[in-house]
This record gives sequence, C-alpha cells and structure tokens, in this order.
Amino acid sequence: MPDSDLLSRFPRVRLMNGPTPVQRLSRLEVVLGPRLKGVSIWAKRDDLMELGGGGNKLRKLEFLIGQAKAEGCDTVVVIGGVQSNFARLAAAVCARVGLACELVLAQMVPRDSEIYQVNGNVLLDRLFGARVHVLARGDDASAFAAGRAAEVASSGRKAFVAVLGGSTPVGCLGYVDCAMEIAAQSAEMAVTFDTIVIPNGSGGMHAGLVAGMVINGEDPSRIVAHTVLSPADACILSTVEKVNAVLGLLSRQERVEPSELNISQSQLGGGYGIPTIPMVEAVKLVGSSEGLLIDPVYGGKAFAGLLSDIEGDVIQPGSNVLFLMTGGSPGLYAYADALNDE
Ligand SMILES: *Cc1c(COP(=O)(O)O)cnc(C)c1O
Repeated sequence: MPDSDLLSRFPRVRLMNGPTPVQRLSRLEVVLGPRLKGVSIWAKRDDLMELGGGGNKLRKLEFLIGQAKAEGCDTVVVIGGVQSNFARLAAAVCARVGLACELVLAQMVPRDSEIYQVNGNVLLDRLFGARVHVLARGDDASAFAAGRAAEVASSGRKAFVAVLGGSTPVGCLGYVDCAMEIAAQSAEMAVTFDTIVIPNGSGGMHAGLVAGMVINGEDPSRIVAHTVLSPADACILSTVEKVNAVLGLLSRQERVEPSELNISQSQLGGGYGIPTIPMVEAVKLVGSSEGLLIDPVYGGKAFAGLLSDIEGDVIQPGSNVLFLMTGGSPGLYAYADALNDE
C-alpha cells in the first residue's frame, strides 16, 4: 500500500532521522535457549531516535506539533504523569522548534520517593527548559491545564493543549506511519512477523498501528498488546474508538470491532506504574543479554508478557515475533529502588 499521499495532507514537523531499525535479538535467543521454543525475536527500535532521548511519543509529536504550529500556537501545555515520557519529549521538541512548553504533571502513581519525584524524566523536563508544574495527589490536571492555557491567552499568546499520551486521532497518525514502515521492512527482510508485541498505555500507538494495518489489508489481531494502564475490557473499547476515529480522520471507510483487537491484562499487576516481579526480570534479561534498555512502566511489562506468552504457547512455537521497543529508559532512574531490590 505505497499510499504516500495518505498522511501528506497533515501538517508535520520532522523529528526523526528516517525509519527506525529492526534488529534480531540473537543473544537474547541464545540466553533463553529451550525456553524460546524456537521462536525468533526481532526488535523495532523506536527507542533509537536522536532527539530528547527518543521514544514512541516522537512519532506522535511530529503530527501534534505540526498541528500546533498550523493553528498558530506559540506555547504547548502537556498533561502527563510525573514520569511521563510524552512530557519529556514534548519539552525537547519545543526546545528544538522554538515553542514555549508547560508541563502539568499529575500524581498518577503511588510513589513518593525523591528519585521518583525529581529524577528520570522530570530531571530532563527541566533541562529541556520546560516550565514544570508538579501537582499534588488528587489535583485535577485537566482543570489546571485549562487554567494555564487561559493565562497564556490573556497575555496575547496561544496555547496548544496536548492530552495524556498525545493520543488524539492526529497524534495517532505517527503510528499509522510506523505500520507502513514495518510492512516495508518486513517485505525488505523477507520475514513475516506472526506476532507484534506492544504495550498499551493511552492506546494511541496501538490505535495508529491497527489503523495502518487495516489500511494495508493486514490482520490487526497479529498485534498482541499488554495493557499497563486500564483493565483489558475498557482498554479494548477505548482503543477501538481511537482506531475508528483515526480511520475517519483519514477519510477511510474501514472500521474495526472490539473482537479484532488483542489486549491482555496479564502484566498489569497492581496498576499503572506499579512494578511487578516479571517486569523487573524482563528489564534485567534484556539488559544483561543484549545491552539494551527497556523501561519499567511499558516495555518491561510488555516484554514480560512476551515471555509468558511463549511459555503458555499463546505465541506459536517456531514463529516470528516483533517486539516494539518504545523507549522510556529515563524512567529506569526513577525506579532505581524497585530495580535494585526485586
Ligand atoms: C507512552 C508510552 C507507551 C504507550 O503508548 P500509548 O500510545 O500511550 O499506548 C509505550 N512505551 C513508552 C516508553 C511510552 O512512553
């Protein structure tokens, strides 16, 4: 589906240096040995981008910042959790393109340690020059952000307010593009990925990928997502809604049903941002076998899901798996306590 016109009518600021690589995790395969049951594992390196430490939110920000600039905004107000990768990357992008940036960081995770509150992503937010508002537990982030936008407007400027995870239909376009990239790389490598493993947080990445695959005529249930934020039922419904909104935005007739999406809550544990033992093991396994970093909130739980799905034969023995590495390594520093003890 080389429909290069698909996304061309949307304003876009280029933030990436071309397609991200797909690499075989050969050392990890050796370390897993018979536990692997002949499965081959590749990684799509969306953690490997030059701006702001990289990560999946840069794909969304290409379109969101394009939209903000097209609407004549000079300030970006972002809502996120304290350790939001989206907030950190929005701050970096604003520095790069010359927009003012305000981050409204909510206490979404029950972690009060000093490293969680000031290290990791929050440290970088400040280095990238953003104005950071760390809210108290229970504060209403949307109301606070609306207040900041009104204040910006009263001084004759114009704010673009970005929602949690940047998962509006426009933000999701970044992952429609990624679905096209994966299809092209799969063809070039002559490898069919039977399963694509991803985390699902705010659902925008999953929704964009599904929309892109549907447009490509591919089966979106090949994506096995592990929810890290909401229970699976709610996650499926909200993700389906986003997929269909993206297809509508692209003037496509296709629509998806909840039964076409594959979302598991087996790795959710105590909830968003709460460490689990399988997450810690997965972060350590990927680090020690490949020298690669996956994050404690998203990638660690998704990779733990991949391992448990190989063990449970949810992933077919001998099949090809693509793990989408989404970045977020600054979060590791905020979780040093959990990663050291467990
Ligand atoms: C935000 C994020 C995700 C999840 O993407 P959503 O679109 O919110 O589902 C996965 N990995 C990392 C590192 C993230 O920052």
